[in-house]
Parts: sequence; C-alpha cells; structure tokens
Amino acid sequence: MSTLQDRPNWMEIDLDALESNYAEIDRRAGHGRQVIAAVKGDAYGHGAVEIARALARRGCQAVWTGHVPEALAIKAADLGLKVILFGGYTADQIPGLAAAGLLPTVYDMEGAAAAAAAGAPVYVKVDSGLGRLGTPLGEARETIRAMAALPGLAIEGIYTHLPFGDAKGQAWALERAEGFGALLRALEGDGIRPAVTQLWGSCGLYAGLPDPTNAVCIGHLLYGLTPFPAIAPAAEGFRSTVKELGSRLIHVARHPAGAGLAIGGAYSLRNAASVGVIPLGVSDGMRRLGQHGQPEAILRGRRVPVIGTSLEHTVLDLDGIDDPRPGEIVRLVGTDNGASISMADWAGWMGCSELDAVLGFGGRLERRFANADEDIWGSFGAR
Ligand SMILES: *Cc1c(COP(=O)(O)O)cnc(C)c1O
Repeated sequence: MSTLQDRPNWMEIDLDALESNYAEIDRRAGHGRQVIAAVKGDAYGHGAVEIARALARRGCQAVWTGHVPEALAIKAADLGLKVILFGGYTADQIPGLAAAGLLPTVYDMEGAAAAAAAGAPVYVKVDSGLGRLGTPLGEARETIRAMAALPGLAIEGIYTHLPFGDAKGQAWALERAEGFGALLRALEGDGIRPAVTQLWGSCGLYAGLPDPTNAVCIGHLLYGLTPFPAIAPAAEGFRSTVKELGSRLIHVARHPAGAGLAIGGAYSLRNAASVGVIPLGVSDGMRRLGQHGQPEAILRGRRVPVIGTSLEHTVLDLDGIDDPRPGEIVRLVGTDNGASISMADWAGWMGCSELDAVLGFGGRLERRFANADEDIWGSFGAR
C-alpha cells in the first residue's frame, strides 16, 4: 500500500553486510580494542537510528556523531549505546546535551568549564595536525592538565583524527600519531589515564598501522566504502551496504528510430524503441550524466541505457524490452536475474566518490533495511 506522499523510489540497506563489516573491523582492531562506530552524516547516508540499532544488536557499545539532532534520536531509541559527540554545538549547549545523556567532546577551557559545572563526563579532542577540531597537539598536555584540575570534570576519553589518502599522507599520519602517543604517555605520567583513547579511523585500521590506543572509531569501512577512493576502488574484505536503489516506471512512450532525444536531442535512438521514465532525478541525489561513460539500469534482469536525467526525472532507453509497462521495477543499483549494478558503478558514472553518491541518494529516498533474520522497513512506510 502506498500513500499519496510516497514516491516509488527506495534505497535498501543490507544490514547483514553492515554486521559482517563490523565483525571484520573488530577482527582487525584486535583483542581488547573497542570498536566505536562513526554514525555522523546520518550514518554516512544510511540512516543513523537504524544503523545504530543494528550495531547495538551486533554488540557495539558506543557510537560517535557530530550531529546533535541525530544523536538525540539515537538516544531516544534507547538502544543501550553510549552516544558520543564529536562537536557540533557551542559551549553553552553542553549542560543540556549532558542532561540528555550525550557525551560531549571539549577542545578548549570554555567547553571544559561548562562540562565541569554540569558534572558531565567528557571526551577531549586533540588536533594532531588535521587542523579541524581539537586542542593543538603542541599545547595539549598543558591544556588537558588544566582541564583535569577543574573540580567536577571527568575525562572519559582522549582522541584525535588523522585521515589520509595516499602513501605521502600515511607518512604524515604516522609521524603525527607518534606525537599523539607521546602525549598519552606524558599524561599518564601526570596521572591522567582516561578509560578510552582513540587514534585511528578507517585509514589507519585498513593500512594496519601501529596503534598505541585502546579504541578505533570507524566510518567508511563499516559501510563498505574504501577510505582511499582516489587509489583503491573498493575495500577488500568489506561488503557494500547499499543493496538496492530502485524505482518504478511512471511513463512509457514509443519513439521512431533515429529520434534525437534528451536535452537538445543529444541521445540518438538506434531502433524504434520505447523510452521509460522514473521519478528520480538530480534532486534525489542523481548527478549530471554523460561525462563518465554510459550509465545503465536494470529492468527485467536486463541492463538498459540511461539516456539522461533532470531535476526530478530520469529517462531510460528500453530498446529490446517487449511491451514495457508503467509500474515495472527499475533497479539503478541491485541484482536481478544475474544482471548486477553497484553503487560504485553509479559513482563512476556520476564522477563522484561512492560516499558522495550514497549521501546524495540516502538523504532524499525512502530507506529500507533488510537482513536475513528479519526485515525492518524504513519509517516512511510500507513496501
Ligand atoms: C569521521 C571520523 C572518524 C571515522 O572516519 P572514517 O575514515 O570514516 O573511518 C573518526 N574520527 C573522527 C574524529 C571523525 O570525524
């Protein structure tokens, strides 16, 4: 049953793949090292609450995000997870966030003082060179000592973030990681021993870099995404979590051979053929096509060319499909009768990273969540 509000478009998330990726991360992290899941950006476009629910079921104990409304939604779902904030608020909001059961990150004395006054445990972020959030590594020892001296402040964790994209970046990260390790040892000498220390995300874990901390915080690999899109198209040992990107034909029309279709007549039909339209376009995460190869979709287990896309529609060449009908299912991503197209294929055709592709579609389409044991449908309603 569909309602008037529904559009016949969906993105199906494979929770079995998510759980398998989580297990692989846990294995690589090694015994005794906690895996904290990064669920920022609405779980990298997958849906923060449902992903957190699936991870909690798999034994994950903590998630990390910088989006306060999503953090509150995860907390409200009562999954028994620690919800840690990367940031995303000003110091005056910290008491309210702590009262809501969230664990804030602080990176300056103002934030630390607000947390101390609220009696809230905190995570302290160190900027080891990325130049984003964090108390700068060079002054971190003094700052953290001053924070620890604030009455009422419990420092539960200290962490940093060193993503990289290639061998040169890895050398940079390794050097900075050594500095962060030295900071943790110096603080230990000062009597500051937080329960959680964390250094590597997907890049460091995938590259197998030495880790002086007791936790990892992983996003990309959890969602089957390579942390190195520029040099490696896929992350070996990890499964894609987007199982299907689907829609239905809303219109079919026949055109003569040689007809110049699409904007400005740029696409020429080889044969007299039917053309089909799906109600999914650039505003749903599609990007301009035509510069990176011929995109395709799947109808009745056959790959069909995608002619073009506009703000709310995408047009398919249905040459060779016998009597196509409105209502038929079209898969942009998915498998049908042996034909298979991946999100990575679409990222290639759209000239963007796989993460950018998922973020684009995930933000606008109904999400469905499936695993082998049970099916959990998205909050937008029935299939
Ligand atoms: C996003 C993020 C991570 C996870 O990064 P991935 O490369 O996606 O695994 C870890 N730490 C911090 C601070 C982050 O912002």
